[in-house]
Amino acid sequence: MAFSMKDKNVIITGGSKGIGLGITTSFAREGANLIFTGRDLESGEGLAKDLQHQGLNVEFFQADVLDFNKTKELFKYAKEKLGSIDILVLNAGIYPETRIEDMEVEQWDMVHDVNLKSIFVSTKEVLPYMKDNAHGRIVIVSSITGNRVGNPGLAHYSASKGGVNGFVKTAALELAKYKITVNTVEPGNIMTPGMKNVLGEEYIKNQEATIPSGKLGTPEDIAYAIMFLASDEASYITGQTIIVDGGQILPESALDIN
Ligand code: NAP
Repeated sequence: MAFSMKDKNVIITGGSKGIGLGITTSFAREGANLIFTGRDLESGEGLAKDLQHQGLNVEFFQADVLDFNKTKELFKYAKEKLGSIDILVLNAGIYPETRIEDMEVEQWDMVHDVNLKSIFVSTKEVLPYMKDNAHGRIVIVSSITGNRVGNPGLAHYSASKGGVNGFVKTAALELAKYKITVNTVEPGNIMTPGMKNVLGEEYIKNQEATIPSGKLGTPEDIAYAIMFLASDEASYITGQTIIVDGGQILPESALDIN
């Protein structure tokens, strides 16, 4: 049993695959009433059906985080359906690999729109509902990349995730008076389809060699940290980040990993 999510009304973006799948499944199993989003109808509806068959209160809402009208619709729908919005987990994100010398402005913009601009839009749009409730938890999936370390091919991604952590500090300040907390979780290297398909087997092998725990993390490792920050017990924590990386950022050199 993790932190109880019983009767909590939760929205998760990008909740059908990878880390999002772990978050959706973990929150649902802990008793949340949950709506998760994604672009891919088939995988979203498939997951929702699976979890509903297990007796869990889960629904899929098809939405691209770049469609800001859809974001408005999502929160309006959630309020009508669930009665309130207690917790918003902003997980949807992309990390296409391109070195700076080959990177086009359009690629830079796309990564920033998905990973950073959508975070601002979702936070702004959920605010009236959480204010009405005089309660709220916003947890954003950031990354060690851009905040603790760099990663060749991910300059646009690093800048977007650094931006997320910067955004959170001011959002936490502005929203504290409404009893809304805003925090981030920074995953290290987590085994997901995105990781496997975009970055590849060789990347994964190299990363494993740099992680003191000796393995990549799981989506559930991230879900549990998010669940803590979303719990009633974390009411006095805001504007903070939890790094979940198996110790990856700790060694001064490769010789320190044994
Ligand atoms: P993933 O396996 O590629 O899954 C990404 C999820 O986001 C999917 O559910 C996808 O669903 C959704 N998504 C992508 N673009 C979207 C959009 N425009 N609108 C709505 N949903 C969208 O990626 P992941 O590895 O799980 O990453 C999830 C988050 O963790 C990201 O924010 C990423 O930056 C962060 N992170 C991951 C790692 C890692 O090691 N995996 C490390 C640090 C941080 P659809 O395809 O259905 O849209």
